[in-house]
Amino acid sequence: MKILVLNAGSSSHKSCLFDLNPGASDGTPTAPVWRASLDWTHAEGVVELTAENQAGEVYQASLPIADRAEGIAALLKTLVEGRTQVLETLSDIDAVGHRVVHGGRDYQTPVVVDAGVKAAIRSLISLAPSHNPANLQGIEAIEQLLGDVPQVAMFDTAFHAAMPEAAFTYPGPYAWVEQGIRRYGFHGISHQYVAQRAAQMLGRDIAELKILTCHLGNGCSLAAVKGGIGIDTTMGFTPMDGLMMGSRSGSVDPGILIYLMRQEGYSADQLDTLLNKDSGLKGLSGLSNDMRLVTEAMAQGNAQAKLAVDVFVHRLRREMGGMVASLGGLDVVVFTAGIGENKSLVWQRACEGFEFLGLRLKADLSRAKDDQDIAAADSAVRVLVIHTQEEWAIAQACLALLRSHRA
Ligand code: ADP
Repeated sequence: MKILVLNAGSSSHKSCLFDLNPGASDGTPTAPVWRASLDWTHAEGVVELTAENQAGEVYQASLPIADRAEGIAALLKTLVEGRTQVLETLSDIDAVGHRVVHGGRDYQTPVVVDAGVKAAIRSLISLAPSHNPANLQGIEAIEQLLGDVPQVAMFDTAFHAAMPEAAFTYPGPYAWVEQGIRRYGFHGISHQYVAQRAAQMLGRDIAELKILTCHLGNGCSLAAVKGGIGIDTTMGFTPMDGLMMGSRSGSVDPGILIYLMRQEGYSADQLDTLLNKDSGLKGLSGLSNDMRLVTEAMAQGNAQAKLAVDVFVHRLRREMGGMVASLGGLDVVVFTAGIGENKSLVWQRACEGFEFLGLRLKADLSRAKDDQDIAAADSAVRVLVIHTQEEWAIAQACLALLRSHRA
């Protein structure tokens, strides 16, 4: 079955086409036959389109397109035309899966998109103002371009929707509970995929494992996964809570915000920019949100870069400790996403805090192309580095839903 996956960001759009065997998967991901992206961050009113097929043929163009639906139409053209062509016609696509950032309280599993689901995504725009509108535009563009092809929405919040009340409730006034001001958590598709992949790699039943998953990319979050269920996580009402990130602060004393409003007249928009775009690795180092550049500067003796990395690791370890307490034990730590998959310095320094649990890393830590176990043979806790495969997980969810609808 040919399954198209769309992953819409605020100013970008990534897409993949999978050709999947409708028989049950053994949980090992397969590569897409085509992938493409749209990026509007280079110049006003211009989109950079890049497409690549499995054979490594690449198409790149700068197009005068500001509209997302038009951009998606141009993107899909590369599936059926030119050097990246992999389909005869767009009607060969059997289903389309979307990563949708916010599913609120109601969506705990992937769903087939209908008018009610679209209305729900629209009603949650105030909680995810830069993402849910882009997700909705993606769904509507596919309706226009591919007619009544089945579409599936998989929500980044869904995996965390089973958290216990004490974990998702903020200790503000009770009115917050009624207003839906609570911890939702994000990166759920990634946390769920890597937790399942960890159990598969270890040949264990996920039902008997306590897994701490660390998604460390530009956005960073942890999840405590007990028996396959997300029981705690660091991101909250918004993706700003929890760990220090590329350009987001993560948790800070809320009194700082009140201070800045009172003493320096900050507006809501200014605070939003400060905490989302000018904080984290970028804010503290004064250099970049990119961990590679910050650690390079640290190695050259840059004191601010060193402080940024020290705070990143300190906060990571501290929040990891919190997740271990929520789990009541620890069998597996998983590192994933850009920093988590690549940065041995972060593996080492984060794990140093857990040697008292019998966690020990191998002496020789190097990046590998494949998913790997970096714990020493005698470690009491396994430590896995897993390449996150959110698009593949969405394609699998589409396949499973279509199968159950047809049955
Ligand atoms: P996003 O959250 O935008 O999907 P990524 O998962 O791509 O982000 O992660 C981006 C982060 O990963 C950046 O801080 C980047 O420096 C870091 N990163 C990516 N590749 C490497 C690498 N090879 N070595 C170290 N850090 C890396």
